[in-house]
Amino acid sequence: MEKGKILIVEDERQISEILTAYLEKEGFTVSTADTGRKAIKLLKGGFDLIILDLMLPDIQGEEICESVRNDSDIPILMLTAKSDEEDRIRGLGMGADDYVVKPFSPREVVARVKALLRRTRKGREELSFNKGDLVISPSTMETRKAGDAVTLTPTEFRILQTLAERPGQVFTRLQLVNTILGYDFEGYDRTIDAHIKNIRQKIEDNPRSPVYIKTVYGVGYKFTGQVDAD
Ligand code: CA
Repeated sequence: MEKGKILIVEDERQISEILTAYLEKEGFTVSTADTGRKAIKLLKGGFDLIILDLMLPDIQGEEICESVRNDSDIPILMLTAKSDEEDRIRGLGMGADDYVVKPFSPREVVARVKALLRRTRKGREELSFNKGDLVISPSTMETRKAGDAVTLTPTEFRILQTLAERPGQVFTRLQLVNTILGYDFEGYDRTIDAHIKNIRQKIEDNPRSPVYIKTVYGVGYKFTGQVDAD
């Protein structure tokens, strides 16, 4: 299984080779560039993460970092020999996501790479259903139906997210009240029906014959969208 494509931009061959060996052992696909010019050429290759040395023979790491940031949010792990605080802050200020100071242990770099990928992937994680017909982004609280943004109230969004995160699972009205209010509240459960009705109006092609949120008579509701593969 491919874990991700990584570009190492580093002119010190020994460092580049040792990092490549460690990352490949972990299942990553690694490309290397020993100059900034080569790096910029390679950058079109759709990498998941860049390990970037700050001091390169031709173009400085800062400049590469800025040019990467101009058109992508690919995570950048900066390698730096400069250890004083100001340079670190500057490194992060120009768009690097993390940095390690030389000399470092390759194991440490691998751990940072994994953490960075985990962080960025989690932030991008979207719930997508029925071949992209319905897309829900928990991090931005955005919903799209057939490509168009849908405006849900925060309560409607919480209900939809709760259902969609566990397709097929039946939720009672009281459980759904609990996800909104954080506690059970008798008498409030019927208003769930009103929220569900509103959500259906917004995300279903035919709210009278819903494909996403089905009523389980006498119990509650369940989400029945088909999860899209990544
Ligand atoms: Ca260097």
